[in-house]
This record gives sequence, structure tokens and C-alpha cells, in this order.
Amino acid sequence: MAVHTATGRTVRARRAVIADVAAPALYRDLLPAAAVPPRLRADLERFAWDTPVVKVNWALRAPIPWGNPGTAGAGTVHVGADERGLVRWAGDIESGVLPATPFMLLGQMTTADATRSPAGTESAWAYTHLPRGIADDGNADRLADRVDEVVEEFAPGFRDRVLHRAVQRPRDLQAADPNLVHGAVGGGTMQLHQQLVFRPVPGLGRAETVVDGLYLGSASAHPGGGVHGVCGWIAARAALADHGMLGALRRRVTTAALELVYRDSPSAR
Ligand SMILES: Cc1cc2nc3c(=O)[nH]c(=O)nc-3n(C[C@H](O)[C@H](O)[C@H](O)COP(=O)(O)OP(=O)(O)OC[C@H]3O[C@@H](n4cnc5c(N)ncnc54)[C@H](O)[C@@H]3O)c2cc1C
Repeated sequence: MAVHTATGRTVRARRAVIADVAAPALYRDLLPAAAVPPRLRADLERFAWDTPVVKVNWALRAPIPWGNPGTAGAGTVHVGADERGLVRWAGDIESGVLPATPFMLLGQMTTADATRSPAGTESAWAYTHLPRGIADDGNADRLADRVDEVVEEFAPGFRDRVLHRAVQRPRDLQAADPNLVHGAVGGGTMQLHQQLVFRPVPGLGRAETVVDGLYLGSASAHPGGGVHGVCGWIAARAALADHGMLGALRRRVTTAALELVYRDSPSAR
């Protein structure tokens, strides 16, 4: 088997190819159409992305002046909501409302790694989510402004320390990494209906794909984004097992199982 790159290179693989791309990109764009059973293509129509991310990056003249000094030494801070606030925020996101008080994950990069910016300064970023289907443009900028407001609330004087600020809208994130489709950083929603044997689509809940020797190792595979590296680890283990002592048997069982799932539309295994 082989992989053809966009620049015209062909990379031959003796045993396995592990695809680190989102499931729709693999099955719709990268594989030849004839290799993907029609039912799998139909299932992908129901594939749900996770909510788009808006990321704000700051260069600060000094560390963030947190009201709670205990926060100063943390590499990562969750900001903006207590339990009730989280429910309100999730309600906004799921009902298509631009959150007035965004809940965010904030990274204090220089706090975590002193080489990130000159001594005495701070390099920080925060990201939060837009509801699905909301236009990227003005809404992403409005949400980014609210991110600053929330940080200011928890760290009075924060804004005075900002030397430079850059916002990455969902489309900017996708332009930087084609895996972040519409700014989705999790490789697809991790709600229950797209977990375990339902990830990325029902019936394909393993790293093995419909093509013999091809494995899905991106966050679109089980267990999804946020479980650092485990998707790739599972794919690598599956590839090794397929070439281990019981490899031939394992491959036959996988092929039989996939043929059962895609009975009416044969796979390319
Ligand atoms: C700002 C931000 C903050 C995050 N914070 C956290 C966090 O705190 N905790 C957490 O668990 N997760 C976090 N995540 C999510 C986590 O980074 C992702 O879930 C994870 O990186 C996904 O891994 P992946 O291997 O599927 O894809 P990626 O890490 O995106 O790797 C895919 C690689 O393949 C390349 N690629 C894609 N398509 C093609 C193609 N067609 N041809 C060639 N190359 C291609 C991409 O450029 C990229 O280099 C965050 C993500 C972002 C953007």
C-alpha cells in the first residue's frame, strides 16, 4: 500500500498506514471513493463536529494580576463559571446563543515554561467556544472581547498589562491545521452518541478501517480529543497486533466483522 502526497510524492508502506486526519477528511477526501462503502459515506452525513473554538493570545508586560493569588502559579486555569454558570454557558452554546459570560481554558505559558517570553512578562492565551452554526466573523470578535472582560473581572488591571493581542477565529485555526475543521479541536463531538463503538460512526469504533492496513489514529477515533495521544496509541497497537503472532486471525476477524456491518456494501479489505 502507499500514500500519495499533495506534492506528488508516493510513500510506500509495507505494513500499515496510520491516518492522523479527521474521519470525514479520510473517508471523503483522501481515500478513493470506490474504497469507501456507501453506507459508511451515508453514516458520515450524520457525523457531528465539536463546537468551534475562538482563541485569544496575549503578550503581557507582567503576569496576570489574579484577584486570587493562588491562581498565579497555575499553568492552566479554568475561568468564568461556577457549577451553575457552567450549566448556563452550556445552555447558551447548545441553544445557539453567543454566551455573555464565556467559560474558558486559559494557559499561562511563561508561568509553565520560563523560556516562552522575557523575564517578568507573561505569554498567555485562552480559548472558548462559539455555538455551532453561528457565523464566524463578528461573533468570534465579540466573543473574544467578552473573554477579555471575564479575565479582567477575575484579574482587575489585566487589560493594562496587554502589550499585544491576537484573536484566532475558527477559520484561522482551520487554516493553520486542516484537522481543526470549523475550529473543532476534538476531532468531532464527544457526546455519548459519538463515543466508543459509535466513534467516528456507528460500527467503526476501532482504529481499523475498511481498508486493510489503514488505521485511524486521529482524535476522530476512540477515545477522542482530550485523551492525550491515546487515539494514535490504540491505532499503533492495532497495527502491531495485526502483524503479530495472531495477526492473520485478527485480520480475518476484523474483515468478517466489517463485512457484517457493511453487508450491503463491500469494503476494500
Ligand atoms: C488552542 C487549543 C487548545 C487545546 N487544548 C487542549 C487541552 O487543554 N487538552 C486537550 O486534551 N486537548 C486540547 N486541545 C485539543 C488537542 O490538541 C487535539 O484534540 C489533538 O491535537 C488532536 O490530535 P490529532 O492527532 O487528531 O490532530 P492534530 O494534533 O491536529 O494533528 C494532525 C496533523 O496532521 C496534519 N494534517 C491534517 N490534515 C492533513 C492532510 N490532509 N495532509 C497532511 N497533513 C495533514 C495537521 O497539520 C497536523 O499536523 C486543544 C487544541 C487547541 C487548538
